[in-house]
Amino acid sequence: MSGTVAASQKRTLADAAYTQLKAHIIQGELAPGAKVSIDGLARRLEFSQTPIREALARLESEGLLARRPLSGYTVTPLLTAAELADLYEIRRLLEPFAARRAAERDPLADAEAARLADAARMPTPTVGRLAFTEADARFHDAVAHLSGSAQLSNAIRRLDAHMHLYRAYIEPGAIEETEGEHRAIAEAIARHDPTEAAAAMRRHLERARDRHNEAFRNAEAAQTEAPAEPPAMTGLPKRGESTP
Ligand SMILES: [Zn+2]
Repeated sequence: MSGTVAASQKRTLADAAYTQLKAHIIQGELAPGAKVSIDGLARRLEFSQTPIREALARLESEGLLARRPLSGYTVTPLLTAAELADLYEIRRLLEPFAARRAAERDPLADAEAARLADAARMPTPTVGRLAFTEADARFHDAVAHLSGSAQLSNAIRRLDAHMHLYRAYIEPGAIEETEGEHRAIAEAIARHDPTEAAAAMRRHLERARDRHNEAFRNAEAAQTEAPAEPPAMTGLPKRGESTP
């Protein structure tokens, strides 16, 4: 019994370390390309090394960290503009297809439709980027899941991992727009309109791509005016409230 308790305490610690580290990455306190040291993080976040190691492995599997032999973990560099464009192209192939499949399925149970409508809702801008990032990922995941294809759902989830860092470049107004677009998708799926579900997803991804490009350009412009960030991570400097 005590073994089970110890195991669940370990789990909780690993989860807590994961949540904190992910927040630091999404909020840009651990910048893309920054080296991440297990020792440094363990000291700074006041965890032992084991939960930190587990958190790092999990973030690596989500695509937020990269691991190189001998040099350890680094925060995944941002995709180049061409890679990001490519990623959106692939999402535009897969995700409207998932939305179409979801709308074609047997009547959604009321509970499923309610869950999807709920997932379409976005947090208020004041809660910050991490909450937005996760809410957006959850919605896309929910649609993929409703497609009924595990293969499709996995493919979409894997692509989505690369989006985390980009969702952090978000203007407050974009959150409201995103919610409206998600709602249109959820409603088309709930009323079994496959053509509209696919079209609404395609529109959303095109708008999201344009919004990201714009927010990213603004953030880059702001960065070139500001003094450069130190490239390596020594502790976790609090970045000023610089909303992109
Ligand atoms: Zn979305």
